[in-house]
Amino acid sequence: MGSLASERTVTGWAAKDPSGILSPYTYTLRKTGPEDVVIKVLYCGVCHTDIHQTKNHLGMSNYPMVPGHEVVGEVEEVGSQVSKVQVGEIVGSGVIVGCCRECTSCKSNIEQYCNKKIWSYNDVYTDGNPTQGGFASAMVVDQKFVVKIPSGLAPEQAAPLLCAGVTVYSPLKHFGLMETGLRGAILGLGGVGHMGVKIAKSMGHHVTIISSSNKKRAEAIDHLGADEYLLSSDETQMATAVDSLDYIIDTVPVFHPLEPYLSLLKVDGKLILMGVINQPLQFVSPMVMLGRKSITGTFIGSMEETQEMLYFCEKKGLTSMIEVVKMEQVNEAFERLERNDVRYRFVVDVAGSKLDG
Ligand SMILES: [Zn+2]
Ligand SMILES: [Zn+2]
Repeated sequence: MGSLASERTVTGWAAKDPSGILSPYTYTLRKTGPEDVVIKVLYCGVCHTDIHQTKNHLGMSNYPMVPGHEVVGEVEEVGSQVSKVQVGEIVGSGVIVGCCRECTSCKSNIEQYCNKKIWSYNDVYTDGNPTQGGFASAMVVDQKFVVKIPSGLAPEQAAPLLCAGVTVYSPLKHFGLMETGLRGAILGLGGVGHMGVKIAKSMGHHVTIISSSNKKRAEAIDHLGADEYLLSSDETQMATAVDSLDYIIDTVPVFHPLEPYLSLLKVDGKLILMGVINQPLQFVSPMVMLGRKSITGTFIGSMEETQEMLYFCEKKGLTSMIEVVKMEQVNEAFERLERNDVRYRFVVDVAGSKLDG
């Protein structure tokens, strides 16, 4: 264990420019403050956002950048005021690592909606230094942004829950959609979509996958446990599903018409958008008026919800479908994720990898 007064040098894998190619990078972590938790990273999931950030798709990337925001690790050291976790415990850290603590969102414990939230990487921390993510040997995170990984969850299995998992759990909880027997659909079967099926099934919902191709039909029904598979290009299938759903979780990250999906919702049904689409989406107003339907969107979940979701997943015996890779394979994993060639989430075995190249 290092001393509380010293900074520590760590090696991570960073993108150095918009090619997005990751390679070893050495940097220092801040001194362990009173509220800080030093986490030895064990596993880190690969999220689609990591590609957008490392390749500067959003035009706001700073390099060198160590991505990774689905972090599971072991507590190596804690600051003097830390009461939430202890040395040796397995913990998680997600998309944000700081907030202002003063705004309405922060005071309502929905810090993910704080306008001054601090992203776990490609952001600037309160000390003026860049934040770096979980593809590294260690991270220092304020205890507010650390959750306990329940003992019943394998650490590598838990990693995708910290972003993809809570992303679907939060809207279902917030909009009162946790009741058994509800009928939901998942549009788009990637990392978030697959967690959507798993979590909605754990809540006892009837779950339909809506997809533009039949490619994933067998997989969705046989392995993921979806109840139905609806081909969006098949007008007859779509017509029979009109007015049948309580909600649709729409994870598609590219432009698509909303009207075919709005028509599938029952009265009071909700279309919940989760894909980042920087283009106006269109619908005509009667599509929502004649059915009191909502089009809404949510962003990850609060720390409280994240912790609750982890215990929920433990209780339900929920497992994510992952492909574990070493850090040496991370560039290949990014490439394959970009082609949607993964079932369904890559998780990097950080502690089991040689990080210095
Ligand atoms: Zn993510
Ligand atoms: Zn705030």
